[in-house]
Amino acid sequence: MQRPSLLIPILGDQLSPAISSLRGVDPADAVVLMMEVREEATYVRHHKAKIAFLFSAMRHHAEALSRRGWTVDYVRLDDPVNTGTFTSELARAVARYRPSGIVVTEAGEWRVARMMEEWERELGLPVDIRQDDRFVASHAEFAAWAEGRRELRMEWFYREMRRKTGLLMNGSEPEGGQWNFDKENRKPAQGDLLMPRPLAFPPDEATRAVMALVEERFADHPGSLEDFDFAVTAKDAERQADQFMKHALAGFGDYQDAMLAGERYLWHSILSPYINVGLLDPLDLCRRAEAEYRAGRAPLNAVEGYVRQIIGWREYVRGIYWRAGPDYAQRNFLDARRSLPSFYWTGRTRMRCMAEALDQTLRTAHAHHIQRLMVTGNFALLIGADPAEVHRWYLEIYVDAFEWVELPNTLGMSQFADGGLLGSKPYAASGAYVDRMSDYCRGCRYDVKQRTGPDACPLNALYWDFLARNEEKLARNPRLAMPYRSWAGMQPQTKAALRVQAAGFLERLDAGEMI
Ligand SMILES: Cc1cc2nc3c(=O)[nH]c(=O)nc-3n(C[C@H](O)[C@H](O)[C@H](O)COP(=O)(O)OP(=O)(O)OC[C@H]3O[C@@H](n4cnc5c(N)ncnc54)[C@H](O)[C@@H]3O)c2cc1C
Ligand code: SF4
Repeated sequence: MQRPSLLIPILGDQLSPAISSLRGVDPADAVVLMMEVREEATYVRHHKAKIAFLFSAMRHHAEALSRRGWTVDYVRLDDPVNTGTFTSELARAVARYRPSGIVVTEAGEWRVARMMEEWERELGLPVDIRQDDRFVASHAEFAAWAEGRRELRMEWFYREMRRKTGLLMNGSEPEGGQWNFDKENRKPAQGDLLMPRPLAFPPDEATRAVMALVEERFADHPGSLEDFDFAVTAKDAERQADQFMKHALAGFGDYQDAMLAGERYLWHSILSPYINVGLLDPLDLCRRAEAEYRAGRAPLNAVEGYVRQIIGWREYVRGIYWRAGPDYAQRNFLDARRSLPSFYWTGRTRMRCMAEALDQTLRTAHAHHIQRLMVTGNFALLIGADPAEVHRWYLEIYVDAFEWVELPNTLGMSQFADGGLLGSKPYAASGAYVDRMSDYCRGCRYDVKQRTGPDACPLNALYWDFLARNEEKLARNPRLAMPYRSWAGMQPQTKAALRVQAAGFLERLDAGEMI
């Protein structure tokens, strides 16, 4: 090819055919650059399945772009001349092609955004950084919505997004006369043979090659590749979306918060990795879900719940991430300092709820929302784990983890380390919650009904200890008024026994005992 005018780097989470950096560009006059670089695979120790998913999806996307007429220069991880970082690989490509400019879609996180800001100076040519318009709200729109508000809450933002997109609206009124049907979405589930199952995609040759590379180069990273069955192309991701719409969406609402031993998916969509890298379009999924409702195939509480997760929570956490600034990851409102126990990387614990969530996570790089929030997240919160460490674990371990979405969910929603910027209360719970929403407790070595003694469920004493420890910071929170009233009403000896129980547990935890 003649010297191209433009060099277009496409990053691993920019695998959308209509990504803004390609728009309006003549494929005959540009080179697309895709890079598997060591720095991105190792800045935290990502789960092996996460790296395999990303590299394989990138390789398939490169082929799809080539078929559409783009010239794609693809730098593989094991290419001997690969220099290992985005910036150094761009510099090599600039020397190869001598383009007159670079066009790129903005980065999804502060770390890479700062890198991009330096490219113009470091590479000595103009860099056009385009907005990522795969989201419903732009940065400017979120900023305008947030400006001047005393507190930010997802619910109010979500209503704006409903109005903006027209999803589930009847003119200016919400479909069904209310905006949110969450109260109907808290049913525990029963396992049965008719439960929906997502599709599994056995690795093709390209994926198998990537898996071998990952095993060789990232042997010390957590997780396993044995159960790898993610889709790695837009076509297969679409098939997975069809499967969800047809078989699981109708139950999504009722069982959104349910957990069952041995059941990885329940009625969840398992589409977040595909949405986050660009293989699926989030707004399109919402419109398809709405069509299922309008056709009478899925109830309103399910479809509203699904739409809310995407145009509500997903957009809202992104807004919070960029608004909070690059130092968000350092916040530690509750001054929590404990190291995350080593069983987060092995799954070896007698607490059945934790063992189930961790085992599944280590095998598949996925767990559903309630496992993340109310099992692994709740436990970390109750023991006072350092939120920066908790954040690193979630970023490493989940296939859909990109900092803009993972960090606010972990540090804000789950660990309350931002003091209430994202959500109005910490999601702290005792064993009773797990017992109500799952069947885990039935097969557990601990007794969920006991609060003290060697067989007591650890979460029970830890819960009260958490409230007592953080009383100064949390007691005035109106959403915690009830538990603090219960705590105040307890006999001094009951309180003391709970705190002694929690202290004993934490001591054993810190000593690395099997618990
Ligand atoms: C501590 C913690 C860490 C998390 N880390 C991530 C992460 O790294 N990446 C990620 O995509 N999600 C994260 N989430 C949100 C949520 O758990 C996942 O999006 C969800 O489990 C993905 O599975 P699914 O596609 O089956 O989702 P479903 O339950 O089917 O939900 C539908 C879709 O809604 C979106 N969604 C739902 N909840 C959220 C949320 N709280 N924030 C943003 N989007 C949401 C996702 O795109 C998801 O695909 C985290 C939640 C918690 C509590
Ligand atoms: S008894 Fe406690 S530790 Fe065991 S599964 Fe239930 S909540 Fe988890």
